[in-house]
Formats: sequence, structure tokens, C-alpha cells
Amino acid sequence: MVIAYPYRPESLYLNVTNRCSNDCRFCVRKRGDFSLAGFDLRLTEEPSADQVLAAIAEQETAHGGPFGEVVFCGFGEPTFRLELIGEVGRALRSAGTTVRLNTNGQGALIAGRDPWPTLTDALDAVSISLNAPDSVSYQALCRPQHGEAAYDAVLSFAQKGSERVDEVVLTVVGFTLDDDATERCEQIANSLGVGFRIR
Ligand code: SF4
Repeated sequence: MVIAYPYRPESLYLNVTNRCSNDCRFCVRKRGDFSLAGFDLRLTEEPSADQVLAAIAEQETAHGGPFGEVVFCGFGEPTFRLELIGEVGRALRSAGTTVRLNTNGQGALIAGRDPWPTLTDALDAVSISLNAPDSVSYQALCRPQHGEAAYDAVLSFAQKGSERVDEVVLTVVGFTLDDDATERCEQIANSLGVGFRIR
């Protein structure tokens, strides 16, 4: 079971859940074999915080030292493991490691409460998948379980995150949007005072 995997030369990614609240039309999970960058990311069970920290230590040993950043990513939506992100993120940051969360931004709907208190001091950066310039097109592309509430939850998560985390970036998947939609997404990021990236 792959819990931590090096994805870029200086980035270690954490696979903490296979669950997700979306069913994006472009998701790599649709391939069905759970493979990414040569790793089989199917989890037979979700790892505990101790298992995640042990997997990080193992990868650091193989790497010859700490990675430049550790990223909660999953092969699913990490905020299904909100408490774990808080615990592991704080442990990593207290050891001087930079921590990023890649998320669909629906943590409040998933947890049924504001996720930010649980994430206090656990993150240096957050990448949030905006994916679309409005709720209707978001629902068509990402097919969220939470329906119409999902898009506003993403925007709210980004806005609150910008007050708590050094770096917040909204992202879109380049090949899924035309130029006009991409520009509208960038304007949303600008209006929230956060970064924007096409991935
Ligand atoms: S939010 Fe991410 S993991 Fe979830 S379905 Fe969309 S692309 Fe896949």
C-alpha cells in the first residue's frame, strides 16, 4: 500500500484517502487501475497519522534527507481526513517541513463544519481546484455529491484560506476550459486575492 510517494524531485505526496465528493469528468481515478506515475495508489485501508509519519520517514531516508515540500494529495480528496491533515501537518511544520494541501475545496461540506480550525498551523500552502467559472459549469464538469452547494463552498474555502495560509492558489485544468472561461476563473482568483494556475 503506497502512502507516500515522490512525485517531483523535491516533492513528497501523501495518499491519505481514495474517497472524493466529486466525480470529475477528467479525473485520473476514472482509469480504474489507481495508477499514477508508476505507483499503485489503491488503499486497502486509510492510513493512520502514525502510518503516514512512518511512510514519510521511510521516503526521507531513501531520498537522503527531507523533501522540499510534503503534499496532502491522495488519489481522492484529502479533507476526508481532516483530523489527520491537522495532526501530520503540524508535526511536519514543527520539524521545518513545508506542507501543502491539494484539495477540491469542499472540506466544509465533507466535514459538516468549518475545516479551518482543524487545519490551524498545519499548512504553508493550499492549491484549490476551482475548475469552472460558475456553479452550473462546475456541476457539469465535476458532478459534486453536494450539488449546488459545492461551488460556493469552494469559493468560501479559498477566501477563508487566504486569511490563514501564506499561499492559496486556485487552479483549473487547461484542456477542459476555453479562453473565456479560463479568464473568468482568473478574475475570480484576483477578486479573492489569491493566486491562479492552469494545470
Ligand atoms: S476532485 Fe480530484 S480526486 Fe475528486 S473526482 Fe475531481 S479530480 Fe478526481
